[in-house]
Amino acid sequence: MEKPHEMSQIRKVIGIVSGKGGVGKSMVTSLLAIAMSKRGFHTAILDADITGPSIPKAFGVTEKIRQTESGIFPSTTEGGIQIMSVNLILPRETDAVVWRGPILANTVKQFWKDVIWGPIDYMFVDMPPGTGDIPLTVFQSLPLDGIIIVTSPQELVSMIVSKAVNMAELMQIPILGIIENMSYFKCPDNGKEYKIFGESHLEEISKLHKISILGRLPIDPKLSLACDKGAIEKVEDGQLSSAAGFLETLTGHCR
Ligand code: ADP
Repeated sequence: MEKPHEMSQIRKVIGIVSGKGGVGKSMVTSLLAIAMSKRGFHTAILDADITGPSIPKAFGVTEKIRQTESGIFPSTTEGGIQIMSVNLILPRETDAVVWRGPILANTVKQFWKDVIWGPIDYMFVDMPPGTGDIPLTVFQSLPLDGIIIVTSPQELVSMIVSKAVNMAELMQIPILGIIENMSYFKCPDNGKEYKIFGESHLEEISKLHKISILGRLPIDPKLSLACDKGAIEKVEDGQLSSAAGFLETLTGHCR
């Protein structure tokens, strides 16, 4: 385990993982952080998705991080969420990160130990998809209190979720629960719900792996539009309130 910066104060660290890209892991990370922040908790997002960072864009944060003699200070969103992302270091947000695995992994470690975080009640770590170098580094270096798995209905029919579960078990990290994104689309014209990606298999998966269901998020064009505009904090939320309620019940020790 890597020690955080001596001036950091972080209480709970929660990894947000998915088996594959594009299921809405960053969306769920953002909405959970917003929900906890609205509940009055000091919240942070460590964007560990180094090659595909989307957190600063979703929150409309362009202010670069600040480096002083004592360490690096993260950027802060309008709503007060602290964020650290490779895009806040790169000269241009379109610059590609073409780095080898060990450098990527080291960057994530630095986001943890060289950044002065805090005081933070809930830190969400937006992990890259899959079970590669960076998730392994996060599992081994950051004192995760648990992970939340994000999936879509389509993905559940495959073995991808099982891989994420197996990795967490291998690394002895508690799985706090699973959130299904893009579960359905509610038609604004007739109020009917349509299962765009097919029937959910969430109940089966939850029984199979004994993981709690923390929430279901519909496909909502408001959400993608808000992300594109950098205004995710302005979206009237509430869909993930059961997950936020659950997180509130967690107790942790000040690090
Ligand atoms: P991941 O982090 O898993 O790669 P993202 O969170 O970046 O996925 O989501 C992929 C795309 O889908 C983004 O453009 C995002 O805005 C959009 N998106 C994610 N969840 C939803 C949702 N529930 N409704 C509408 N669009 C969504």
